[in-house]
Amino acid sequence: MTVVAIDGPAGAGKSSVARGVAQELGFTYLDTGAMYRSVALAAAEREADPAEVARSLQMQVGERIVVDGRDVTQQIRAPEVSEAASRIAADPEVREAVVAQQRRLLQDGDWVAEGRDIGTVVAPEAEVKVFLTAEPQERARRRAAELGLDPARVLAEQTIRDERDRTREHSPLEPAPGAVVLDSTHMTLADVVQRIAGLVPGTRR
Ligand code: C5P
Repeated sequence: MTVVAIDGPAGAGKSSVARGVAQELGFTYLDTGAMYRSVALAAAEREADPAEVARSLQMQVGERIVVDGRDVTQQIRAPEVSEAASRIAADPEVREAVVAQQRRLLQDGDWVAEGRDIGTVVAPEAEVKVFLTAEPQERARRRAAELGLDPARVLAEQTIRDERDRTREHSPLEPAPGAVVLDSTHMTLADVVQRIAGLVPGTRR
């Protein structure tokens, strides 16, 4: 069992990079942010306590995100779900339930898991830990292009969520001990993927 943990702020390119590394190595990709997003969406729809929802929600997190039998892949990317996910992710009870699900998944097989606390909390024994970052303007530019939104608005909202992730009491966003810190601002996606894949022991390239 090998785990590659990729953490970092929103828009650093974690999803594309983690997908690329997983494909390169034949590992399975885990998008942990999609789990917080799914909990946020379900809690809002049901007007329920997010911690309750986190404890009971059936989530399939693969190519498509399926929650209690419903495909929410597109819906969880909406800006209001981003905002709600960032808020509920500060709740220790939500985190406890979501982290437990993530640890169960990572028990078997080879994974590239992407999020904010994979190297610090979810899988501190991960073979490879990367803290992927980029300059804030560049991160906002990439997200805006991807989602077809206004870069200035994305930057403003990103700044609020970054601050919340960094300063929350429970599992704040910070590089794990031993993590390789990579700034992707001036790197291509292919370069970042190769760089990370090359850190995994036993892979020849
Ligand atoms: O990565 P993504 O933007 O999809 O994550 C949505 C939100 O979920 C983030 O703003 C962050 O607050 C939270 N999150 C987290 N821990 C993770 C993954 C995401 O707190 N491992």
